[in-house]
Formats: sequence, structure tokens, C-alpha cells
Amino acid sequence: MTNNLLIKNSDIVTLDEQGTILRNANIAIEGKTITAVGDAPPGFQADEVIDGYNHVALPGFFNAHCHAPMTFERGWAEDLPFPRWLNEKIWVAESALTPDDVYWGAALAACEMIRSGSVAFNDHYFYMDRVAEVVEASGMKATLTWCVFGLGDDKEVGANLNGTLAFIDRWRGKADGRIRLSLDPHSPYVCPPDLLRRVAALAAERGLSVHLHVAESQEQVDRSLAEHGKTPVAYLESLSFFDGPCVAAHCLRVTDDDLGILARRKVTVAHTPITYMKLAMPANDLSRFTARSINVAIGTDGPGSNSDMDMPAQIRQTAILQKYDQRNPEAVPGDTALRMATQNGARAMGFAASGVIAPGRAADITLFDFDKPHLCPRHNLIANLVHSAKGSDVSHVIVDGKLLYRDGELLTLDEDKILREAESHAFRMVGTEMRQVRKYTS
Ligand SMILES: [Zn+2]
Repeated sequence: MTNNLLIKNSDIVTLDEQGTILRNANIAIEGKTITAVGDAPPGFQADEVIDGYNHVALPGFFNAHCHAPMTFERGWAEDLPFPRWLNEKIWVAESALTPDDVYWGAALAACEMIRSGSVAFNDHYFYMDRVAEVVEASGMKATLTWCVFGLGDDKEVGANLNGTLAFIDRWRGKADGRIRLSLDPHSPYVCPPDLLRRVAALAAERGLSVHLHVAESQEQVDRSLAEHGKTPVAYLESLSFFDGPCVAAHCLRVTDDDLGILARRKVTVAHTPITYMKLAMPANDLSRFTARSINVAIGTDGPGSNSDMDMPAQIRQTAILQKYDQRNPEAVPGDTALRMATQNGARAMGFAASGVIAPGRAADITLFDFDKPHLCPRHNLIANLVHSAKGSDVSHVIVDGKLLYRDGELLTLDEDKILREAESHAFRMVGTEMRQVRKYTS
């Protein structure tokens, strides 16, 4: 039976092409689809009505690059330079990783993402069946891929490339179309060329997208030039890696020629500003990308690096970091930042019907409660959303017309159990005894 939902008397930031903003208007939803915006159709019978007075509706956030289960490393690797952060902490902790850790870490991330307005995430990690289970149960959307290295089966975590293909076969078409699947070699600096070539061929053969880390530092670029005679971007293009849809996370050090390749090949660049600032990595100038119409999307990255999965924080920091770094207050206007965090990510992740509030679009909507001191006055809803709103101001999250969150309550996940299980699994993985911590805090 189709479920009809009506959001009444809300302000609406549609993010349509014209940038339409409606005040005190309605959104009618039938099943998974928005059927009317402005006035509800005559005779529309709602099964559930959301009172949107003093609320702002926005397309839900698409977190375009993350490692959701890394919530268990939140606060575990602090104040370290990137190579030591990765080699001495992250990869050491992950050497004890179990599939159950992944399940509870991803479930914790799902609670956090829904509470802060995300409707979807682009995840690459290990034991991804367990992440897919969380997606299925939570009602979120996701594009999932198993991270592989191609350095020998003893170096893989849970699956090699063949195992990844089996994972893809197990989950294709599951969760009512909310799960999409892609391929992910970790990066061109870790993976050998034959793996990258094979991934490119498999992606083309099976119509899959790819997702990986690219050009995170000058050192990686210099090594690529020394080993392959090409920048990481040019090297990947030479391996036919960009023949199909690709999300390249970071791209912090790219040449003008690289930008030409990314634009021509329609590669999406996922930008994660808090990770860059926290790990003191020089950021990129996003105007170089947007000037060439490269699709830039925003992600949280893993909480081991930026410490949370809160997209409103990433949106604000995207705008502020660019303004500050480029000494240009006009860099990344608010409307641009919101589009990066919604429709640009949706397009990159294969959910092209999402990211706009308009008839015929997917009903993936986040409502913010604006009845708060820091959101008053409402001169400019976009400015308030980008620079004043917090993840905790989110009041409702709707995915495919289904409410996942309402006024502080997660409707699909057992948050109390998830908090307990996630913390005990996190402690076990890094070798901390739960009772030692309890002794300290009591
Ligand atoms: Zn990453």
C-alpha cells in the first residue's frame, strides 16, 4: 500500500535550477516520490502529516566519501601527522578488525548521520556485507564498495577483488533499490597497475562506478611522477580508469592538465575539509574545479580523521576554509555549498532523482527546526543553513518517502543498543578493557 506523507507550512529550499525558495508551503509525497510542492493536490489524503511551521525543508545530504565503520576510531589517533596517523594508529587498530566491529561501527555512524540530516553515504571499507545490513535496516541509501589493495591475499581485509565481486552479486537490487555498488582499489599509491587495470575493465564490463583516494599530498604526486612518469590523475586516465563514473576523493594536488582530465572524464571530486584541517594537509582551491564545471561533492571522510559524520559541519567548513585559504569572501557561496552536499553527491552516487525538492523527484528530505536563537532572524535561509545551523537542529529525515527520524527519535534503529555495542567493540579492537575505563570515570 502506498504511504502518503504531507509536510505542511514549511519553508522550503528546493535547490532547483532557479534556486526557488518557498515560504510557508507544503510538500506532498506519495510512496517514494514528491508529487507536489507549494500546495497539496486537491483531495490529497495524507496518512501522516508533519507540521512544518518554523521548519525549513532541504534535500537530504549525500555524504560523498566516508568510511562509516571508522566511528570506532573516533578520538583514537589524535594530534599526529598523516603518515604516523595512518601507519602507527589507524592501520594498527584495523589489524584486529572483525566483521562484528564493522557492523556496530557502521550502525553507530548511521545513527549519527540520520540525526544530522544525511539520507545517503558513499562508503568504502571492509566486511561490507555488514555495512549493507545496516543500510537495509536503517532505511538510508548508500553506495558501497569493498576496499582492496591488490598486494596479495594475505594483505586484503576479508576479501580480494573476486570477493568484492561476490559481495556485489549478493547485494545488487537489495534493500528496495537503496543500495548501489561500486569498485574500490584503495588508491593509485598503494595498488599495483595490474589491479587498477583489472578494476577499470570490470567496471566497464559490469557498468559499475569506481571510488578511490587520489592525490592527497605532493609526496604522492612526486612518487607517481618518479614511478610512472605521470601525475596520479594522468596515470589513472592512462589505465582507462576514468572511462566510466568515478568518485576521486580529495585531489588536493592537481595540475591544470589534471583538471582538464577530471573535467573531460566527468570525474566527481569528493571534498572533506575537516580532515584536511585536522591533519594539517594543504587544501585545494575549489574554484579551479568549479571553473571547469567539475562535479565537486562533500563528504565527512572517516571519523578516525575528522572525528564526526556531521554534514552540516562539513558544509560550513567547506565554505569557510575556501574563503580563508583563498583570501576571498566570495569563494563557495552558500547555495553552491548546499548543492555540493546534496545533488552533486547524489548524482555521483547514482541517485540522480535525489537532491532537489520538486514534483517527480525522490522524497529524500531533511527538515531543520528553525525555532532556535541561533537561527533567528530569517533574513536568508541559505546563510542560516550554511553558517548557523547544526546537525542537532535536524528534526525530521525522510528517505524514499519513509520517516527515519522524528523530533529526536530514530524510528528504524535501536540507538541505545547500538551505543553500548559500538563502544564495547571499539574498546576491544584497540585493546582497552571496558572496566578500566569504567573505573576511571566512576
Ligand atoms: Zn578516505
